[in-house]
Amino acid sequence: MLPFSYERAETLDDARKAVSDGGEQPPTSAAVQFIAGGTNMSDYMRLGVNRPAHLVDINPIPDSSLRTIAITESEVRLGALVRMSEVEDHPGINQRCPMLAESLKLAASRQIRNMASLGGNILQRTRCEYFRETSWPCNKRDPGSGCAAMDGFNRQHAVLGTSDACIATYHGDFAQALIALDASVEILGQAGSRRMRFAELHRLPGDRPEIETVLRPDEIIVAIAVSLPAWAARSGYLKIRDRQSYAFSLASAAVALDLSEETVRDVRIALGGVATVPWRATEAEEALKGKALTEETATKAAEIAFSGAKPRQHNAFKVELGKQTLVRALMDVGQMRI
Ligand SMILES: Cc1cc2nc3c(=O)[nH]c(=O)nc-3n(C[C@H](O)[C@H](O)[C@H](O)COP(=O)(O)OP(=O)(O)OC[C@H]3O[C@@H](n4cnc5c(N)ncnc54)[C@H](O)[C@@H]3O)c2cc1C
Ligand code: SF4
Repeated sequence: MLPFSYERAETLDDARKAVSDGGEQPPTSAAVQFIAGGTNMSDYMRLGVNRPAHLVDINPIPDSSLRTIAITESEVRLGALVRMSEVEDHPGINQRCPMLAESLKLAASRQIRNMASLGGNILQRTRCEYFRETSWPCNKRDPGSGCAAMDGFNRQHAVLGTSDACIATYHGDFAQALIALDASVEILGQAGSRRMRFAELHRLPGDRPEIETVLRPDEIIVAIAVSLPAWAARSGYLKIRDRQSYAFSLASAAVALDLSEETVRDVRIALGGVATVPWRATEAEEALKGKALTEETATKAAEIAFSGAKPRQHNAFKVELGKQTLVRALMDVGQMRI
């Protein structure tokens, strides 16, 4: 691990000022970076992947906007420093939107979830083995160096949203529930505050895979807001992985259904483990609207969801696995009574 200095920010202003000379580079390569739970940052600093010269710890900031879970009739607002386990344990969230709680419960281990924050969770970096091991070429870690995964062992890699420069999977689970529900994020930086759709936060790799989000180095995620229609109670998160606990997904599906009898009035679908960014399957949603939810219509929607898939040598199984995961998630959620 490279030497680094560390400071504890006492206010949001302190934190913003500490990174005021962040410049134009993405936050992940800036000299000064934020740390929250540290479960991703410390891991990747130890590996030499993240190389900040100075860390600004945002945990001491007392603002309630960063720490509160607030539920109204129509929305839940989650502070960025709320821990993953606080949301998974929250009775109101479990009742009003099981998908949110389940996507967290099925992630990592309880110890990590006690430590890790929601803000850090959505900004977690890929687990691509070649990204994590610094002796390999990797366009995301060392722009222009090449991609060892393209012709390497790419079983864990993405089949959707890939580019010629990078095929790394976005491995987070919670982000799939957020994109399915069209959440928004509240951000504070030197230029003031802004709110954006969660769907706009992450960037496809394109020819600049090192730029993972639209955040500037001085911008702190303060909170995440999620609309909660009554029908979000009929939702769930299905995660398929190599072992049943403490593993990242090979394929997952976040599904919420608004049903009138058997007919789909509205539906939200997001796919995890198979794409380079949190992935909303809007065309599959459109294919289901107005139709009866049956094995047949669900299968058709799954075909559409993966129609643009680009498998590589070792990850072709993810296309069929992803489709079956989605069909099962739709049928399971369709059975829920609310
Ligand atoms: C063994 C292991 C297994 C795991 N399994 C899973 C899994 O199955 N599913 C899953 O989803 N995740 C999994 N994770 C990832 C884990 O969920 C993340 O490491 C964690 O959520 C990151 O949160 P943190 O608060 O520790 O972030 P940190 O490590 O503190 O920060 C992560 C990044 O976010 C930035 N950041 C943090 N907070 C803010 C903020 N408020 N504003 C702006 N930038 C910020 C930091 O600068 C850093 O770049 C696993 C991790 C480990 C180590
Ligand atoms: S897939 Fe992306 S992260 Fe992995 S080695 Fe290639 S460029 Fe790097």
